[in-house]
Amino acid sequence: MEQIGHWIDGKHVAGASGRFADVMNPATGEVQAQVALASKAELDAAVASAARAQLAWGATNPQRRARVMMALVGLLNRDMDKLAEAISREHGKTFPDAKGDVQRGLEVIEFCIGAPHLLKGEFTDSAGPGIDMYSMRQPLGVVAGITPFNFPAMIPLWKMGPALAAGNAMILKPSERDPSCPMMLAALCKEAGLPDGILQVINGDKEAVDAILDNETVQAVGFVGSTPIAQYIYSRATANGKRSQCFGGAKNHMIIMPDADLDQAADALVGAGYGAAGERCMAISVAVPVGEETADRLIEKLVPRIEALKVGPYTAGNDIDFGPVVTAAAKANILRLVESGVAQGAKLVVDGRDFKLQGYENGYFVGAHLFDHVTPDMDIYRTEIFGPVLSTVRAASYEEAIGLALDHEYGNGTAIFTRDGDTARDFANRINIGMVGINVPIPVPLAYHTFGGWKKSGFGDLNQHGPDAFRFYTRTKTVTARWPSGIKEGAAFNFKAMD
Ligand code: NAD
Repeated sequence: MEQIGHWIDGKHVAGASGRFADVMNPATGEVQAQVALASKAELDAAVASAARAQLAWGATNPQRRARVMMALVGLLNRDMDKLAEAISREHGKTFPDAKGDVQRGLEVIEFCIGAPHLLKGEFTDSAGPGIDMYSMRQPLGVVAGITPFNFPAMIPLWKMGPALAAGNAMILKPSERDPSCPMMLAALCKEAGLPDGILQVINGDKEAVDAILDNETVQAVGFVGSTPIAQYIYSRATANGKRSQCFGGAKNHMIIMPDADLDQAADALVGAGYGAAGERCMAISVAVPVGEETADRLIEKLVPRIEALKVGPYTAGNDIDFGPVVTAAAKANILRLVESGVAQGAKLVVDGRDFKLQGYENGYFVGAHLFDHVTPDMDIYRTEIFGPVLSTVRAASYEEAIGLALDHEYGNGTAIFTRDGDTARDFANRINIGMVGINVPIPVPLAYHTFGGWKKSGFGDLNQHGPDAFRFYTRTKTVTARWPSGIKEGAAFNFKAMD
């Protein structure tokens, strides 16, 4: 059985704690590897080594660090298929979707090539007589990224790119469900020229996470995962004096106005609701058609599209629409919530409960489900299901529809489908949600903008990637300098190289 350890000081290191977790193949339900779960002592040793390495890395000029990012982009493109295969094998998502996972992470590394520009400080000439004032952005030192199972390439890359380009060392604690891709990313960083010790991948569970949160050398913690863990990590990290940004779960609403192109809206809902088996924090899980007629027509268009979805293992080819969910526990939880929806009176219009895939009876496949007549008091409306289940809540008016999204405790993403610019503009202005799509179902911002939810979907005040990431992973130092007389050097005729 393959054993996955840690990546410490530029090489694979076997786990020393004696504790392991099974890495499953979600399509078959078989154990395909074991991943080591780090002890506090292993974590602390990796942090100490990272702190020693960071001193030289932080002092390296930003353009040289950016060149590592540039080389990494080339290597990610070179190994795209290998990385995607590792993701599909452990996560279960389709191969094209796994490539998208790598691609959206790679784009943040491309953005990080611009680190020298992003790290430039501010300067005031002659702030007083003979006085200049300048501020610089300096790395924090050792920082940590704790990431979820559902994007094992993209989210680790979102964390490590800005942190490393800004001159920090990073402890990455990826999900124990799909650890292979993050380990491959670390090896690619080394090949790209990253010095040993600057990126340490420590596999583990709560013990490793708590060790990160309590380690005095770790200066900042970036987390992505479920809301209860995000809240826990945010409060413990900040209580220990660390900078922290923690992104949590979601319940993303899509409002469909009577004037929307309903074929376009139905296609968008099917892709955004069922893609990656609904295991995306930006998945649409609630459809809110405005008006009974809109709702009836929308359901009519959705049902055949949903019934035609192809569910299967990634090995069955690229025309599969979605694969299994990640664990047996996730499957059981989804089916339990579906039962609660039926029991609480929602109408199950597409029933995937009996879905079976011949030859994969032990896999964690869940058929597509569509609910109609869902109401805000139901568990399927209040809870993040994180599976292929779309709930329809019928609203009588635009105000009722926007009110639902405004009142929901989550605030990650949302979308409105309409042909009316005034309605779209009002929605974008009033909604208390971090990412908004107008006729776009999954409005994930590109690398040079920032990504982050509001309300219970995000804790901390800066977003991921874009300029915010460079603010999060640096701190500002401001210098006031007075030079009563200048320093005069002799003439220099050559451009000086910056070392
Ligand atoms: P999770 O919260 O179970 O795990 C995330 C990380 O926390 C993992 O590394 C895990 O090992 C660690 N962890 C788990 N339990 C812990 C505990 N008790 N103490 C300390 N650490 C613990 O989340 P997941 O199931 O891997 O990912 C799915 C969730 O992530 C969903 O809720 C989804 O919406 C969310 N998500 C959010 C975003 C976003 O940007 N807002 C993006 C992707 C996923």
